[in-house]
Amino acid sequence: MNKKSILLSERNRNSVQKTGEYISSRVIVDKTTQCWNWVKSIGNDGYGKAKRKGKTIRAHRLSYTFYKGEIPEGMFVCHSCDNPKCVNPEHLWLGSHYENEIDKTRKGRRSPSPGVSHPHTLLKGEAHPKSKISDKMAEEIYILGLQGFNAKEIKLKLGLLICDSSIQRIISGKSWKHLQLDEKHGLPLPQNIRKINASAKLTAQSVIEIRASQHLSVKELSHKYGVSPANISCILKRKSWNHI
Ligand SMILES: [Zn+2]
Repeated sequence: MNKKSILLSERNRNSVQKTGEYISSRVIVDKTTQCWNWVKSIGNDGYGKAKRKGKTIRAHRLSYTFYKGEIPEGMFVCHSCDNPKCVNPEHLWLGSHYENEIDKTRKGRRSPSPGVSHPHTLLKGEAHPKSKISDKMAEEIYILGLQGFNAKEIKLKLGLLICDSSIQRIISGKSWKHLQLDEKHGLPLPQNIRKINASAKLTAQSVIEIRASQHLSVKELSHKYGVSPANISCILKRKSWNHI
């Protein structure tokens, strides 16, 4: 190796180290989702903004390039977690423009039109930029709920990455009311309405299992049984389900 290439590789190493530090000093890891949330500057489109070599670029693209490699021209870096702020390379995948659009439409995530101030309060359903599903998807979820599928089964069937409670709220008719799905397809099943009460999701058997699984943390139990950590604590402390 001649002097010049030694100098270049040295410079390269420094820049790699700097980029790694640059990314890690600007994220907070969500321990539940494993998302690396970009906490510095966020653009109007919801994506993290990074500055490299005097240019502003999207943080998730920087992370992809750094951890996974070059982004081929015309390709998009998509999120499997549907969290635009996330720069965890494990949650990023390369898609074509077409795949990216399909993905965004499927998740109902589109950027608000530029120049519109505070649009969030005015927008309903899929028009809401924080919404992860489209109106059509909400309708499909509702119909599957009517057919007796539960939130977990629906999530699997439709390949959704949203939380059970969002699905639960749709199949019980508590959200997406503006679509008037009950008028179109009939009223939600009574068991779906009951399930809104989180502890009603549990059966006597699962309460017994929870109390027998004290080697697991409250958080792990909450995840496993699909109820809130507060609910699990109440069960463990016998503040609820006392009759069992
Ligand atoms: Zn993520």
